[in-house]
Amino acid sequence: MLDSYVEIDLDKIGANARAITQKYSDYKYFIAVLKGDGYGHGMEVANEMYKNGINYFAVSSLEEAQSFRKVNKDAPLLCLHPVHLSRIEEAKRLNLTIAVNELDYLKRLLNLNIDCNFKVHLQIDTGFNRLGFKDKDEVKTAVDMINGSNFVLEGIYQHFATAGIFDPHWDEQVRNFKELTSLIDLKKIPIVHMGSSVSMLTHPKQPFTTGVRMGIAIYGYNVAPDSLSNSPKDRLRKMRNNYFIKKYNISETYFDVKIDLQPAMKMKTRILQLKKVNKGEWFGYNASYTADEDIILAILPVGYNNGIGHANHNRQVVINGKKYPVVGEMCMNMTAVKVDSSVKIDDEVTLLGDGITVGMFGRSSGMGNAEALVNIGKNNPRFYVKDGKAVKEK
Ligand SMILES: *Cc1c(COP(=O)(O)O)cnc(C)c1O
Repeated sequence: MLDSYVEIDLDKIGANARAITQKYSDYKYFIAVLKGDGYGHGMEVANEMYKNGINYFAVSSLEEAQSFRKVNKDAPLLCLHPVHLSRIEEAKRLNLTIAVNELDYLKRLLNLNIDCNFKVHLQIDTGFNRLGFKDKDEVKTAVDMINGSNFVLEGIYQHFATAGIFDPHWDEQVRNFKELTSLIDLKKIPIVHMGSSVSMLTHPKQPFTTGVRMGIAIYGYNVAPDSLSNSPKDRLRKMRNNYFIKKYNISETYFDVKIDLQPAMKMKTRILQLKKVNKGEWFGYNASYTADEDIILAILPVGYNNGIGHANHNRQVVINGKKYPVVGEMCMNMTAVKVDSSVKIDDEVTLLGDGITVGMFGRSSGMGNAEALVNIGKNNPRFYVKDGKAVKEK
């Protein structure tokens, strides 16, 4: 029995891939983003996606590409960050698709006269100001240079900075993409792709795209917003939203998106000791918690060493289907939970899953959803479940 671990349900990853590729079947290319070691799920998830309709993958570094190739030798794999030219031979061995983010990089890449028909995707910067081309003449020059070389211009893409739900930036980025690609023939490029999960879920497909990139959705999170209720607060929000829609001429967005996505990751731990604490006694570093009645604490072997962070705002855990509050500060590798007499030392404790959503988990730590997944996925032993059974014993 391990002290703490994350459990990853590969069947759910497969089901999520099917749900996405079926619902969004207007796209031809489905690019699953596996950066951050597959959002903390490990590269083992890639083949479940591949078997269930995902036909392209993206990582952000050569290291991630190496671990991907250990589990999958042939699926198309795009490296989202420009590969350092000193490592281009490695990229060739890994059969990587190269992202080209600026003209100077492309010139130096072509000057290497490398003996490889690299597939390349052009990155267009439509306002994010991260990576990519910002000038339409340069985009045209790049396309001409690639077409005149032994490389294959397979794709072109941009990345959204916002969800486009009542902000003007999303539509602005779509307009910029059209403008920046206005001197080239997009139809000649097989994969025109945009991201991300929230864009895919909450906006109609842009007619010129053939592909979509998604991360968080395929790991099981429907990040589309719920529609607003009729409460006074929500009615005010609706008024504000309608004002923005008119003011910025915001295009159609979807709420309450119906798609069966199921979180694949859970985090579990065990109880080290059940400790009786009398009223007035305290617990933990800095005596951060004082018992206001006679209580029982369950001491757990998890802390910021397990990727949880040290913030601990209203965190709850689940034991035997019931939620209990974490008390006191988070240590490096111990946490206290205020339990009741029904809890036994060998009971399983769930920190994420079984009713603790990633949103709740992340908020307790001051982390976003993807950040929480990456942190706990990387900092705990991972166990995989397949066909409802553990792949390996804990
Ligand atoms: C992370 C990332 C994605 C996926 O984003 P999600 O919000 O997790 O769907 C897509 N494209 C690029 C370039 C990214 O960096």
